[in-house]
Amino acid sequence: MTTADDVAARAKARFSTTLERLADYLRYPAISCEPEHARDVRALAERIADDLGGLGMERARLLELDGALPCVAAERRRCPGAPTVLVYGHLDLQPVAGEAWDSPPHEASAREGRLYARGAADDMGGWVSHLAAIEAWLEVAGELPLNIRLLIEGEEEIGSPNLVRYMDAFPDAFEADVMVLTDCENPSTDVPGLTVSLRGLMDVEVHCASMAADVHSGLWGNAIPDPAVALMQLVARLVDEDGRLKHGRVEVPEAWAKASFDVPLGPEVVREGARLLDGVEPLPGRGRSTAEWIWRQPAVTVLSTTLPAPGREKNAVRREASARLSVRVAPGQRGEDLYRVLEDVLLADPPGGVKVSMRLLSAGGSWLYTPKGPAFEAADRAYEKAWGKKLVQIGVGGSIPFVAMFGERFGDLPLILNGVMDPRTAAHGPNESMDLALFERAVLANVHLYAELAALPR
Ligand SMILES: [Zn+2]
Repeated sequence: MTTADDVAARAKARFSTTLERLADYLRYPAISCEPEHARDVRALAERIADDLGGLGMERARLLELDGALPCVAAERRRCPGAPTVLVYGHLDLQPVAGEAWDSPPHEASAREGRLYARGAADDMGGWVSHLAAIEAWLEVAGELPLNIRLLIEGEEEIGSPNLVRYMDAFPDAFEADVMVLTDCENPSTDVPGLTVSLRGLMDVEVHCASMAADVHSGLWGNAIPDPAVALMQLVARLVDEDGRLKHGRVEVPEAWAKASFDVPLGPEVVREGARLLDGVEPLPGRGRSTAEWIWRQPAVTVLSTTLPAPGREKNAVRREASARLSVRVAPGQRGEDLYRVLEDVLLADPPGGVKVSMRLLSAGGSWLYTPKGPAFEAADRAYEKAWGKKLVQIGVGGSIPFVAMFGERFGDLPLILNGVMDPRTAAHGPNESMDLALFERAVLANVHLYAELAALPR
């Protein structure tokens, strides 16, 4: 048995202690988007900083900036010559208001092999899996095999608005040779995922106008172009028969496209993960895998319109109508290029000559990463030991702002994106949960990852 095997055995033996720690943290309603919970975010940050000191991390402290919720930072760097790994996670949560939970969202509840609570997998379980590995190493070996920094953010769920400022203000808290960013997903509970791509995100407004004022729909209907209908016609131009964005599609490497059919993301996973109603079918693949559609192709969603809510309408043709569209940009695709494509489609030949205008409200970059080099080989070995399987390269259909920020600043370093979510996690929704067997494997993988990274030639 190697030391790492002993440490892994200890981590397994103390798994229930790890779960208790996790359950404690999950009691804090640390919801960063609700100002009334700012003090809960802070209280949790203080609690974590205290605990980190207690479990052997050094310089455990809150990082603070004006107008920002705090980050927790800590380090243990007692292995001169060994690499330093930075572990990033976040302590803040998505809101729960108005959601129907089967158990209280801020009380961890274990049922059928899963732990239910807001934040269980996104992202408390993610970084607590590292605390568990660190504790096991210190208990068994008295020291870590390498140097570790922890950085736990308090504003990830509001888009990390101050993370770059934190990077500027506290550069030493981010200094590392390898970064493990742990807020991502696994393709299933028994296949570990390494995230290598994210889609970008644009918010676009489309506005249609045809008259100086609203007019009576009985007197003028059928005689004038209705801007609300024109808006729907324009949105319909964007999509194919399945309702998917049909413009701006990208070529993905053939080998990747083929391999993506092996990702366990079949219709049943879609049906359950997205909670489709009986009789509603997942969209047909039409030659592409679900993974490709979600991870690698652009997509459009109608977020809102200026049409009145039912019950607030009047019998009139409205003078104008607009919609906000959320557009996911393919990894590697430039948002401005896709925006221009959409402009060409939406502004050309307006229905009935209505005045159409567009605005780009916000744009966040996509991310496409090629993992190579010894750190990823070390990660493969570590995951194979803990999961019996190598990391499978996956994408995320969403856009995680902090990843782009880390990529921009530290793109030359190995960035290992993983996490403890799986397709049933329901992050951001009611009954968020984490698979407990997966969580245990994540802890064991971290134990081995530290040893494998420490053994790399410098
Ligand atoms: Zn998260």
